[in-house]
Amino acid sequence: MMFWDTKYILFVMLPGLLIGLWAQMKLMSAFGKYSQVPIDSGMTGAEAARHILDQAGLTDMPVEEVPGQLSDHYDPTKRALFLSSDNFHGRSVAAVGVAAHESGHALQHLHQDAMFNLRMALVPVTQFASYAWMGVLVLGMFLHLIPHYLSIAVAIFSVLTLFQLVTLPVEYDASARAKEQLFRLGLVREDERVGISKVLDAAALTYVAALVNSVLQLLYLISEARSSRN
Ligand SMILES: [Zn+2]
Repeated sequence: MMFWDTKYILFVMLPGLLIGLWAQMKLMSAFGKYSQVPIDSGMTGAEAARHILDQAGLTDMPVEEVPGQLSDHYDPTKRALFLSSDNFHGRSVAAVGVAAHESGHALQHLHQDAMFNLRMALVPVTQFASYAWMGVLVLGMFLHLIPHYLSIAVAIFSVLTLFQLVTLPVEYDASARAKEQLFRLGLVREDERVGISKVLDAAALTYVAALVNSVLQLLYLISEARSSRN
């Protein structure tokens, strides 16, 4: 079963791969385009993030540079913002958009956003589920050492899918907050709105693709668990 099963290849692997590639391509093209469009204010991503954080009263929250492409993130445990070199130093629509998005996560944390908190609470559970998933895959599916491993796989994969589901509104909300702050603080011009939205929407698509992948995988596991019981 699985991996060499035609049903799995046709209904899980192939569509998952295609939607993942499509989302990645959309992101690369939007980011590639708008990282070449200079922002009128001349601000770097780091400066824009600093401004948004300061305005929210988060004056002591560090904004740091991290290596890697699109490695930008907000770390709630360190209470710090990390921007990739391109976006940290970049004075483009894309750099300012991404920096503002990450600041949006810091604002969610500050305002104790319910979905943000739920996602944070799910992080350790999801990490455990990821390890357990590897265990079930190796010991159950390949070595057949665990009885009823399909039911266990369904339970574990439900946790992983739930995490992806909760991530989605958190990401969209961070982008909404980013746009709101950028315009409220006058950091972007009216005609720069489109570019900011295109970059942030493309970034959100990758999370949609991840969720679709998880759901397809989960549905497959459920159908396999059902047929193994019959
Ligand atoms: Zn985000």
